[in-house]
Amino acid sequence: MKYHIITFGCQMNKSDSERIATILEDRGYKSVSEINEADLIVVNMCSVRQSAVDRIFGLSQKLAKLKTQNSKLKTILTGCILKSDRQKFTKKFDLILDIKNLPNWPKNFDYKIHHGEICNIRCENYLNIQPKYQNNFRAFVPISNGCNNFCSYCVVPFIRGSLVCRDHQEILKETKKAIQRGLNSIRKAISNRAREIWLLGQNVNDYQSPTNLSINFAKLLQMVNDILGNFWLRFTTPNPQNFSDELIETMAKCEKVTPYLNLPVQSGDNKILRKMNRPYTIEDYKNLVKKIRKKIPDITLSTDIIVGFPRETKKQFENTVKLFREIKFDMAYIAKYSPRPGTAGAELKDNVSLPEKEKRYKILTEILKETALEKNKKYLGKEVEVLVDEPVPKNGFLIGKTKTYKTLKFAGPKNLIGQFVKVEIIDALPWGLKGELKKNKKCQHLS
Ligand code: SAH
Ligand code: SF4
Repeated sequence: MKYHIITFGCQMNKSDSERIATILEDRGYKSVSEINEADLIVVNMCSVRQSAVDRIFGLSQKLAKLKTQNSKLKTILTGCILKSDRQKFTKKFDLILDIKNLPNWPKNFDYKIHHGEICNIRCENYLNIQPKYQNNFRAFVPISNGCNNFCSYCVVPFIRGSLVCRDHQEILKETKKAIQRGLNSIRKAISNRAREIWLLGQNVNDYQSPTNLSINFAKLLQMVNDILGNFWLRFTTPNPQNFSDELIETMAKCEKVTPYLNLPVQSGDNKILRKMNRPYTIEDYKNLVKKIRKKIPDITLSTDIIVGFPRETKKQFENTVKLFREIKFDMAYIAKYSPRPGTAGAELKDNVSLPEKEKRYKILTEILKETALEKNKKYLGKEVEVLVDEPVPKNGFLIGKTKTYKTLKFAGPKNLIGQFVKVEIIDALPWGLKGELKKNKKCQHLS
């Protein structure tokens, strides 16, 4: 029996898919990369924006066609599913299964006979299932699931539920395993060890270990940093609310924590922030950025923004423009607002037209292009460490990320993928850097 998983959405969903793979392989399924060859297709969906939900409807048509060609084919829908969409998808998939109930997924996906049979892997929290990592050198380690914040535009608390934190010891165990995997075989140790750890949660700075309440996110970060091994440590997503001085100090002093931060501001206007139920002001945000930049001067700072929140006036949007010019972000993930059923925002009329949202999106992108280029130019002539990600199809170039999370393109052999190398920056563009591999290309202290 062969399976194929299709994942939509954020890194958390990707991480969930790695746990689904473990469960399926426990039942004897083998992974296939071609969707046409699969007997079981799992769609792990996202509902954060309506466009993501619409894509699932499109995909379900394709799956219906595949089912006419392969009568054995079973389809499962899981991930972030809104209650209001569940009914609609029931007719399109054989099974809809709750991701949090992963340890109890039926052993046999023939829904007529699955009752009573559950899998061998038992644990209370599905996050404690050992994942089947999709990447040899990068591991996404979830530290919590859900969120208690109820920002008025956001479905996360409705689909993932309230915040549940994972035991710090489980997090450390999984991270150690990823960093030290293959250490008993010298060859494997070189190719298979995680070089980059991402701690994941919808709101990481609200983390508190359920078995030791004194372990907050800053303490956890320090503990992961102290694991033996050469790796970079990143995390997502923090919130400007509760971003403590302790966390800033910890980021600054931990040598493996990378100088990169995605700090979602969502709007540059205080009234809109209040309507979004974001409990900080722009002045708070700017002060926080100032503190962070003082302690970590070379930090790459990105943000998330929503344009066209209900009743966002042109003047209010101008405040976001002002903030963009002032902060000079390295990168921003700009989203056009879409109402999500069940959220407080959905009660308000979505009265900013799509063309107006697109206009606002373009204005911010143009400013970002300038500020990102200005930031990237500072790298010219410098030698940086890069973790090599993947080849650029057909042209002999490789793509990697600097410690500061800048995308970098340079010519080099494919056997460097998953390694730390040294690259000299020869060109700066708004969305990335170009470099030249140094002769002593491998970073001795890091490899
Ligand atoms: N936990 C993060 C955000 C998680 S959701 C935080 O607190 O900021 C990821 C991103 O999706 C958000 O930052 C937001 O920019 C976008 N998003 C969420 N709901 C949205 C909606 N209804 N319309 C448009 N974008 C949305
Ligand atoms: Fe959604 Fe993030 Fe707000 Fe939680 S903090 S409700 S995940 S936007």
